[in-house]
Amino acid sequence: MARVYNFSAGPAVLPEEVLKEAADEMLDYNGSGMSVMEMSHRSKVYDDIIKTAEADLRELMGIPDDYAVLFLQGGAWTQFSAIPMNLMKNGVADYIVTGQWAKKAWQEASKYGKANKIASSEDETFSYIPDCSDLPIDDDADYVYICENNTIYGTKFWQLPNTKGKTLVADVSSCFLSEPVDVTKYGVIYGGVQKNIGPAGVTIVIIRKDLIRDDLDEKVPTMLKYKTHADANSLFNTPPAYGIYICGKVFKWLKKQGGLAEMKKKNEDKAKILYDFLDSSKLFKGTVRKEDRSLMNVPFVTGNDEFDAKFVAEAKAAGLENLKGHRSVGGMRASIYNAMPKEGVEKLVEFMKKFEAENA
Ligand SMILES: *Cc1c(COP(=O)(O)O)cnc(C)c1O
Repeated sequence: MARVYNFSAGPAVLPEEVLKEAADEMLDYNGSGMSVMEMSHRSKVYDDIIKTAEADLRELMGIPDDYAVLFLQGGAWTQFSAIPMNLMKNGVADYIVTGQWAKKAWQEASKYGKANKIASSEDETFSYIPDCSDLPIDDDADYVYICENNTIYGTKFWQLPNTKGKTLVADVSSCFLSEPVDVTKYGVIYGGVQKNIGPAGVTIVIIRKDLIRDDLDEKVPTMLKYKTHADANSLFNTPPAYGIYICGKVFKWLKKQGGLAEMKKKNEDKAKILYDFLDSSKLFKGTVRKEDRSLMNVPFVTGNDEFDAKFVAEAKAAGLENLKGHRSVGGMRASIYNAMPKEGVEKLVEFMKKFEAENA
């Protein structure tokens, strides 16, 4: 068996320990005589799995009791619609557009109401986070929306925007559980799990309970109402049962690593190895304003398309996979999520040094 170092932006690397455990339990989960894939989501065994997963997530993030945790399907994309459908009371929301995902969310929200683009960094290919200390927040805004970590561009909000008292909604798909978080600063925190938590197919929505309404327009589909899922503890219909089980294992793994404060340290440590090299390299350079750099997604370029392609191909041959950048930025992108071991980043930098020496 030869595992590669997988720098994919998502679906992405998972902890090897978790995968092995899941493999061991594949045919017979905990004496049940069946795989978690085969069991009823209404069974006692499964109920323990989903309840334990929720409890561990609550513990990791310090989620207060006045927030609901929902395990849903449909990816972040489905939330681009569900959020305005559930949260627009006045029919107005403010969007900070810091990348393609925020832009898609803003465009989707525009179908339901007045979605104001109150700030953007599109003028410089989303390579920075705009100053959000004093934005023109609409008096009627039902919420202010951000994409907290911009997976494609490699930027991160290190300071949350001043929402002037309005509810903050954040897509954290690519920074979920990468650092401690003060949940009380948000109305909704959500993300697809396939970047930093588990397998594709699960979306986690953490929502303050007073935002869950039962007076929505009757045309809002049952499956898109937060109330449907909150009332049923994410078991209204068949949930993404196996995916939730794997997420639960990742939560246990994170607790064993020391929790989110420890993960942040590890993530800073890993990112520093790569950023320090980028800052000293003559061939490679990072594409993001330094103070806005993500710990999770690190885009970089040589400035020469031929070199970029050569680098990606040679890296792959050396067991360093999925380093090709997103088509809108070009070059390379190394996603170094929680489950990427430090040795993976060290190997990458070693390889970059060698490539630089050979192509000087
Ligand atoms: C990947 C990604 C999305 C899209 O997620 P899907 O689950 O494919 O819908 C949205 N937002 C962010 C920040 C992402 O990284």
